[in-house]
Amino acid sequence: MIKENLKRILEELPEGVDLVAAAKTRTPDEVLEAIDAGLRIIGENYVQEAEKAFEAVGAKVRWHMIGHLQSNKAKKAVKIFDVIETVDSMKLARAIDKACQNMGKVMQVLIEVNSGEEPQKAGVMPEDGISLVRDMSELKNIKIMGLMTMGPFAGDPEDARPYFQKTRKLFEEIKTLNLPGVEMKHLSMGMSNSYRVALEEGANMVRIGTRLFGERVY
Ligand SMILES: *Cc1c(COP(=O)(O)O)cnc(C)c1O
Repeated sequence: MIKENLKRILEELPEGVDLVAAAKTRTPDEVLEAIDAGLRIIGENYVQEAEKAFEAVGAKVRWHMIGHLQSNKAKKAVKIFDVIETVDSMKLARAIDKACQNMGKVMQVLIEVNSGEEPQKAGVMPEDGISLVRDMSELKNIKIMGLMTMGPFAGDPEDARPYFQKTRKLFEEIKTLNLPGVEMKHLSMGMSNSYRVALEEGANMVRIGTRLFGERVY
């Protein structure tokens, strides 16, 4: 089933679009089945779950952190992840930078944008995005590679469109600044129900769970 789902999704994605499999709650066997079928990037929400999955799967795929990361978990996170998609503060950025320095690693990160401007949610407010990028670009062991957004929860994927547009606009704005060490390459937006709309709005990285692995049972 996972194999067929993956094949269908990959056939649908335009060239140059990366699929990140949102693997929360999935067993290592499910993840391995998808890898056998050609999956190349795993997205994890929790460091502890990622450690378990990494133990079973190893470094033959790329690992993306897509959940909120607490600064005190940065040290563990930088051991596993190739990309941290959810950096939204200097506090977290500094913790990642320091942990990477100790390891001699440069971490690729995306800035998470709170495109719905919901106070209780993670992500930098869109109007603060540029100043965060400027400040973060000073850190030597971090490389900013793009933006990520969730958008407010919406039943109708069309409702997500304005938030994807807002994030895209910021992405292009940062790109034109040509900041040293900042590469606006990845725009990570869209999940199972919204990735088609996200692609129309310029996403080149989509994070898909349910549509690949099936409904989550909690
Ligand atoms: C779970 C999750 C997804 C994927 O959600 P689905 O609706 O299962 O496709 C994408 N991004 C993040 C950050 C997630 O936590």
